[in-house]
Amino acid sequence: MTKKKIAIYGKGGIGKSTTVSNIAASYDNSTFVIGCDPKSDTTRTLVGKRIPTILDTMRNNKNPVLDDVLYEGFNNTLCVESGGPEPGVGCAGRGVIVAMKLLNQLGAFDSNPELVIYDVLGDVVCGGFSVPLREEYADEVYIVTSGEYMSLYAANNIAKGIRKLNGKLGGIICNCRNVENEVEIVSEFAKLLSTEVIGIIPRSPLVQSSEFQAKTVVEVYPDSDQSNEYRKLIKSIMDNDNLVAPTPLESEEFEKFFYSYVDN
Ligand code: ADP
Ligand code: MG
Repeated sequence: MTKKKIAIYGKGGIGKSTTVSNIAASYDNSTFVIGCDPKSDTTRTLVGKRIPTILDTMRNNKNPVLDDVLYEGFNNTLCVESGGPEPGVGCAGRGVIVAMKLLNQLGAFDSNPELVIYDVLGDVVCGGFSVPLREEYADEVYIVTSGEYMSLYAANNIAKGIRKLNGKLGGIICNCRNVENEVEIVSEFAKLLSTEVIGIIPRSPLVQSSEFQAKTVVEVYPDSDQSNEYRKLIKSIMDNDNLVAPTPLESEEFEKFFYSYVDN
């Protein structure tokens, strides 16, 4: 039975895919990982290489079967990438719409994986990226942010979108960039949004070094502190039942909140 269907949102480059792939690698039961970012690199470290995206596959094959788009990855994961258009051409979110349609048609969810994770870009204002939430593919959202202005700003916008779509926020994941007062800033931000920080992931060179080998930290360095943090995070998510309608900040409130930390 599927226990949780979660979506991880956040600004581009903030660490969504790193977090998603490592928590999927940490979870020992069947996990379905769906990359919804046009960068299409969520599943690379799970499968060990880039996999063909659904959009790419459908360009050459109008009637693909599940095996054409679904790839097995590390530790009982099943992986797909929605894909996106060529840069500069078309709507970046369309891949998500097409992908979800196809996956449903092909019965990709029929095996009832215990955990379903969507990796979704959240700083582009585009309908396609709201699909995992809008269509109720995912039941709860986690937002990845650091203590940096732009990633908090994007996180606040994502919270606005969740609220509008009547989605539920499960918490904030702090992926550290080592800015001053980072955990304090992100914790306060979470509180203002009526939620909590569900995990704090340190910045670590092991991320780059495993990424270079097209593997997760959890696979290459299972005994590291970093791997422990990813394992702790997925456990907290699986145990979490504190889901809220977020209370995003108005622009002025957001500025006031952020600068109250910078000025002192
Ligand atoms: P996103 O999926 O949000 O666009 P990525 O997961 O691809 O972001 O991360 C962007 C870059 O930041 C990657 O090169 C990754 O190696 C690095 N990164 C992410 N999280 C960490 C971390 N905790 N420590 C060190 N580097 C990280
Ligand atoms: Mg990514």
